[in-house]
Amino acid sequence: MSTNKRSKGKYPLRREYSAGGVVIKDKSEVLLIKNPSNIWTFPKGHIEKGETKEQAALREVKEETNIDAEIVDYLGEISYFFIWQGVKVYKTVYFYLMRYVAGIPVPSWEVKDARFFPLEKATKLLKYKGDKEIFNKALEKLDLL
Ligand code: ATP
Repeated sequence: MSTNKRSKGKYPLRREYSAGGVVIKDKSEVLLIKNPSNIWTFPKGHIEKGETKEQAALREVKEETNIDAEIVDYLGEISYFFIWQGVKVYKTVYFYLMRYVAGIPVPSWEVKDARFFPLEKATKLLKYKGDKEIFNKALEKLDLL
């Protein structure tokens, strides 16, 4: 179904763009946050005006988790719909593979938790289809780290 067809439905449609990171530490752990829906996922957030996708991804990782990281590679994008205050939002999120640099995870007020998990444990915790796909791409690129 095209977005045009969807926009003729019950709700007005809004486009949103975010960027985030799959932060890997010691090739063995990955940084996850627990979002307000109580779902473990990757840190990410809105791309501000005048900011590149890469800058937004690094800033959001730092803001949501207190972790400093550096970008190693681009992983790809995921898109999903949700309804927020009577508006249908179609969001695209650009994800980067990141190497841990410094800091201990401290969740911001925007998220319920932030922690490093062993890669195998993270595979089980991730629930969103798009996250699972992005994580698989990250695992395929572990040799870059
Ligand atoms: P951002 O962190 O990009 O500023 P936000 O915190 O306002 O955004 P989202 O995290 O996109 O909003 O959450 C909005 C809705 O989408 C929630 O219902 C959430 O459960 C759902 N959601 C979040 N991430 C995903 C995903 N990867 N796949 C599908 N649905 C998701």
